[in-house]
Amino acid sequence: MAAKRLAAVFGSEGTPALDSRLLIAAVLDIEPNRLSLFDYRAVSSAERLRIEDYLDRRIAGEPVARIIGAREFWGLSIGLSPATLVPRPDTEVLVEAVLAWFDRHGGRERVLTVADLGTGSGAILLALMSALPEITALGLDLSEEAATTARNNAERLGFADRSLFLRGDWSQALAQVDVLVSNPPYIRSEVIAGLAREVREFDPMLALDGGADGLDAYRVIIADLERVLAPGGAAFFEVGYDQHESVSALLKEAGFDVRLHRDLAGIGRVVEAE
Ligand code: GLN
Repeated sequence: MAAKRLAAVFGSEGTPALDSRLLIAAVLDIEPNRLSLFDYRAVSSAERLRIEDYLDRRIAGEPVARIIGAREFWGLSIGLSPATLVPRPDTEVLVEAVLAWFDRHGGRERVLTVADLGTGSGAILLALMSALPEITALGLDLSEEAATTARNNAERLGFADRSLFLRGDWSQALAQVDVLVSNPPYIRSEVIAGLAREVREFDPMLALDGGADGLDAYRVIIADLERVLAPGGAAFFEVGYDQHESVSALLKEAGFDVRLHRDLAGIGRVVEAE
C-alpha cells in the first residue's frame, strides 16, 4: 500500500518499496527485515497517522534518512541532525583504506589515536572504533550541533569511553595523532546550486561547500599535517570525483607519499598520505 503510494509519485525513479519499509519500520520501532512478521492489526491509530505523515514528507521530496533521522553506515545505525551530512556509501572506501593501513602496519589491535576533521555524525570514527578495538578517537566539527550528534551516537553504540567529540576548527586544536581522517566539504561553490535537490535542500552547506575550487579545506589541513601527524602516522582524505590528482599534488608538495583508493565505480575516492 505505502510502496504503491510512493511508486505512483516516483515512477521508476527511486526505491519506493525499500523507502516505505524503512519509514514504516522506523515508526513501529522494529528491524526493517522483520516487517513481514509484524501483525498489522497491532498498529495503533497514532502510528498509522505517523506513517501517513512520513509518506507525505517523502512524497514532498524529503530523503528517508532525514525523515527517520538515521542512516546505516558500516552496519551501524547512525543518528543524524540537520547539522550533519547523511553518511554516503562511498565513504566506506575511506574506512576500508584505514583498515588496510592497520593490516599493513602491525594489525588491527594496535593502540593508536585517530582524529577526524569535520566529523559530522561521527560515522567514520564510529565505523573505525567498531573494527579497531584499541583505538582512541577524537572527532572535531565546526558545528557544535554536529559534535553533539556524534557524541550521542558514540554513547548509544557503546563507544563513549574511548572517544571525544568536540567543536573545533580543523587541525589547529590538535596535538599529534597517529591517524588522521577527513571527509571535508569539497564541492566547488559554483556547482552547489546544481546539486540534486535531496542534497542541496537537506544536507548542511557547511559540510558541502569547499570554496571556489573545492579544495579550501584540504589546503588548510595539509598546511598543518606534518606537525599534526605522529612519526609513522598516516592521513586519509575523501575527495570529489575529479579531485584526487589535485589533492595528491598538494600532499606531494608538502613532502608526503600518496596512495589512491578507488570506489566501486572506479573513481579515485580516497587519497592516503604517509
Ligand atoms: N559526497 C558528497 C556529495 O556528493 C559531498 C561530501 C563532501 O563535500 N565532503 O554530495
